Amino acid sequence: MKNSNTVHIGIDDTDSKYGMCTTYLAYELVRLLRKEVDFLDYPKLIRLNPNIPWKTRGNGSISIKIKTTNFGRLKTRIINLVMGLADIENGANPGLVFYYNDVIPNRLINFSQSALFKLISRNKIKQFLESNDVDYFSSGNSQGLIGATSAIGYQFNDHTFELITYRKKSKIGGVRKISLDNVKLIQKKYATIFNSYYKNRILITPHGPDPVFYGIRGEDVKSLICASKLIQTNEHPKGYMVFKSNQGTSSHLDNQIDTSKFEPYASGTITGHISTIPIVNKGGHVTFFITNNSYTVKCISYRQTRLMNILMHLLVGDLVSVGGGIRKASKKHERVLNLELLKILKLVKHVKLANPKCKICNKNMKSEGHDQGFECRKCKTKQTHKIIINVQRSIKCGTYIPIPNAHRHLTRPLQRLGVINKNIYFDNTIPWFHTF
Ligand code: ATP
Repeated sequence: MKNSNTVHIGIDDTDSKYGMCTTYLAYELVRLLRKEVDFLDYPKLIRLNPNIPWKTRGNGSISIKIKTTNFGRLKTRIINLVMGLADIENGANPGLVFYYNDVIPNRLINFSQSALFKLISRNKIKQFLESNDVDYFSSGNSQGLIGATSAIGYQFNDHTFELITYRKKSKIGGVRKISLDNVKLIQKKYATIFNSYYKNRILITPHGPDPVFYGIRGEDVKSLICASKLIQTNEHPKGYMVFKSNQGTSSHLDNQIDTSKFEPYASGTITGHISTIPIVNKGGHVTFFITNNSYTVKCISYRQTRLMNILMHLLVGDLVSVGGGIRKASKKHERVLNLELLKILKLVKHVKLANPKCKICNKNMKSEGHDQGFECRKCKTKQTHKIIINVQRSIKCGTYIPIPNAHRHLTRPLQRLGVINKNIYFDNTIPWFHTF
């Protein structure tokens, strides 16, 4: 450990689809540390590349920044806590990273960016950490070190917050009962909260056997705490913690996909012209191609995104930017971009040929048969050719995203389009951690 008494603790891969949640582990870690250390920021919940194949749910990783004079003693307790709670039996491969400096070096920042945009091989992670003088502990295949390192290295350009409430042990696995009307009211009262419900579906409660009761997402900590006090439920949760997060920022799309490589599992955007008009496949998925001078890319939008109504009006030549992840090729399918975001940048004119209008009577002229020209039935005026008319486009330039039910944690909701949260002040007087 170096002289500095700032420590960044990164954690990942502690859960499985049968239980646990890395955010809950972070809650327990803060509970353990809170009487002994100073917190220098809100705990970070960083969603990494959502297109990697082995994530449990939302590819979330955690980091916590503390100040302490005696980390040596605490480190063993932290490792014991993580190893005690991680669902190793069901395949969790926990990674813990400790970085003993206030300033995060560029190599960690760049590593974190790669983990947001690409798939990283775990083969060299230990070597990377050692060569950068970063302390770590891991178990199993050490996959968790990738997320743990990236959570520490993540730099926010924009952020949101999530208040996550945790269940008591006796309730884990049971149905989460929260009233929809109540959630609707809360969303109405706090305009800075987003994606709490869509139509008649509650979006703040997960469905698995993990310890999360509900999570409310929004722009500021105070509103989230006030909103959580208004949630009506018979269940008595264990406590809550507020995380600062890149959720709702679409930061995984701030990357131009390298179309010369078109690497599987990469996330980002590609710009090009529509080269085939979108078609609807069996199951309601829409496929189309975009092209530029050097590449042609197949894109697919799944039915659940409900983007069909927009996509079906695109025409060859329209300029678009598509965001999403590259799906690996299979025996049946080539590599495709799974569409998460559509920006229509420029629409071509939609023109079509039509029978001419009579200049005298202003009536549509009738065809006299193939290559026979046209005649006005009323005044018998003749004309030889069809005319070109402009058809009004039924879509507009703009940004289109899937419906909230189909959002990923990282998806920037419509409510946040153009919003950048610049308030980086850490207000430790606000009860961002609470046990009931
Ligand atoms: P939850 O969101 O419930 O915490 P999860 O979806 O985050 O679960 P994990 O069990 O943490 O899933 O598994 C994700 C694993 O992938 C972690 O080991 C993490 O270190 C690793 N990982 C994250 N990003 C990348 C990446 N870009 N390339 C390779 N591995 C990655």
